Amino acid sequence: MVVARHRGTKITVDLGAIKANIRTVLHTLPADQKLFAVVKANAYGHGLVPVAYAAKEAGATGFCVAVIDEGVALREAGLNEPILILGVNPVTEAPYIAANDLSVAVGSLEFLQEALPLLAEQGLRLNVHLALDTGMGRIGFRQPEAVRQAEEFMRAHAEQFRFEGVFTHFATADMVDTTYFNHQKQAFHKLVGALDELPPYVHVTNSAASLWHQQTAGNMIRFGIAMYGLNPSGREMAPTYALRPALSLTSEVVHVKKITAGDSVGYGKTYTAGQDEWIGTVPMGYADGWLRRLQGFKVLVDGEECEIVGRVCMDQFMIRLPHAVKLGTKVTLIGRDGDAQITAQDVADYVGTIHYEILCGLSHRVPRVYR
Ligand code: PLP
Repeated sequence: MVVARHRGTKITVDLGAIKANIRTVLHTLPADQKLFAVVKANAYGHGLVPVAYAAKEAGATGFCVAVIDEGVALREAGLNEPILILGVNPVTEAPYIAANDLSVAVGSLEFLQEALPLLAEQGLRLNVHLALDTGMGRIGFRQPEAVRQAEEFMRAHAEQFRFEGVFTHFATADMVDTTYFNHQKQAFHKLVGALDELPPYVHVTNSAASLWHQQTAGNMIRFGIAMYGLNPSGREMAPTYALRPALSLTSEVVHVKKITAGDSVGYGKTYTAGQDEWIGTVPMGYADGWLRRLQGFKVLVDGEECEIVGRVCMDQFMIRLPHAVKLGTKVTLIGRDGDAQITAQDVADYVGTIHYEILCGLSHRVPRVYR
């Protein structure tokens, strides 16, 4: 993996904003609520280890990742807090997960049954969070009887399993209509009701639930997108506490030229100048996560909006400038420049997706710098 450190394109992450977002939500929660920072997918593009350390400083007492390797990377970086892997893993990896003292989401009795001999063979104990599928339809137990069996199995094999948590995930916590949310909530209570004893962690709250459904249930929240300062609902609902976006994306003009009416720009000749125009080239492309279909969108140069003209290439794209600018002039793709601002939400709206996807798509080639 090569990081392009000798190019003027970079992501700047304001760790102060991440800490502020965590402190803000903690302030709104009852004092006994714990917060696990969701740092999967390279901390939503912000950088796994620096974000994890910032989150810890601000009061996170654990982390959520998606895959084993992200958890191991946190361990290797010296973090000793609980780390929950949210995704399902091959059962053959159970000993590796246990050996790294990671916790894992389990959504079937078969996983526990098959993991048992593998763990026993090496004298290992696996931390388990039972995943309950209350309506997300992704992973987890759907029947109370199955939940009870899983609990019984873990208690019967307590040398190999530590029943550490139980959780569910909401599909619509970010929507105005709460019908399905309430249905999931009820389903959760029914499934959890099948347990003889609650484990140490009971968790259902993601960012959206922390904003709009605080009284739901549990003693820990899995705090993702709002930690990065973005509204999980996009533009659907107003946040109930302040969010400070942490990420900005900037580059620079590396080439400037004047073209004349009728000249074309970019692959496929999809843009043709109607008059004499100044065109700047910016060293960022779809290989960096700046999507090809952003043709026609805008960037900021000297606080002014400039249109992206022609198709975005793999490593470069072109913009129409109001006049000639000096080489090295800053270009803001996401962030603020003077009074103007482009948000990840603006980018997402333009390409018809959600800001999560834009941030996670920013590739490892783009260096992350922290302040
Ligand atoms: N919990 C689970 C199981 C998730 O899959 C995710 C994100 O995908 C989160 C929590 C965090 O969600 P958010 O970023 O909306 O807070």
